[in-house]
Amino acid sequence: ESREVATRIAGVLDLFEAVCAREEAELGRIDAIAGDGDHGQGMAYGTKGAAAAAKTALADGAGARTLLVRAGEAWSESAGGTSGALWGGALIAAASTFADDAGSSPRTIVEAVDAGIDAVLRLGGATEGDKTMVDAAIPFRAALADAFTGDNASAAILSAAGVARSAADATADITASLGRARVLGDKSLGTPDPGAISFSILMTELGQHLA
Ligand code: ADP
Ligand code: MG
Ligand code: MG
Repeated sequence: ESREVATRIAGVLDLFEAVCAREEAELGRIDAIAGDGDHGQGMAYGTKGAAAAAKTALADGAGARTLLVRAGEAWSESAGGTSGALWGGALIAAASTFADDAGSSPRTIVEAVDAGIDAVLRLGGATEGDKTMVDAAIPFRAALADAFTGDNASAAILSAAGVARSAADATADITASLGRARVLGDKSLGTPDPGAISFSILMTELGQHLA
């Protein structure tokens, strides 16, 4: 049922909060090289806000769909920056694949992830090669579509997260053209995009703890 799904989603958001707290300094360090250095803080605040909103929604008796909308709104508000707005929008888009009065299947989960990535593409307007999280999200989505057989959401997401990690690491070879990094241009060469790295970290967490 939706309440069970909502409880699992809240659990995943707790794990997102924990991993972002662990990675905060490193993500900030990477963002400081070519960006403004706040990506670790943005992800830490955003996931913390989302996890707290999910707990409140659970206590209010919310189903999966409502919980994800509230978590997404809280993520954007708590994080502040570009990536927070995109992650918040992704959660809100993912919410629409869930119902407040019905359970989910492995396919629902994969569709939710797809909807979230679509939202990032639509809201951010970035394409592959712009040195953003999209450079991890697009290969991730393709790998997920290949790996998903209809009932292995967790394993498929985990294997696609490995592809996302390699793609994120490979962004070190591109010069930034979008986001705040663009004003500093070539300074980003040799350093991966922080948002691509955090995307791969969160998808690894999702794949590991979905089951
Ligand atoms: P800000 O750039 O506002 O300081 P963050 O540091 O939290 O926000 O996030 C930076 C990350 O956001 C970048 O590393 C990149 O992955 C992602 N990003 C920035 N602009 C876009 C965009 N237009 N589309 C997709 N992702 C983007
Ligand atoms: Mg930043
Ligand atoms: Mg900033």
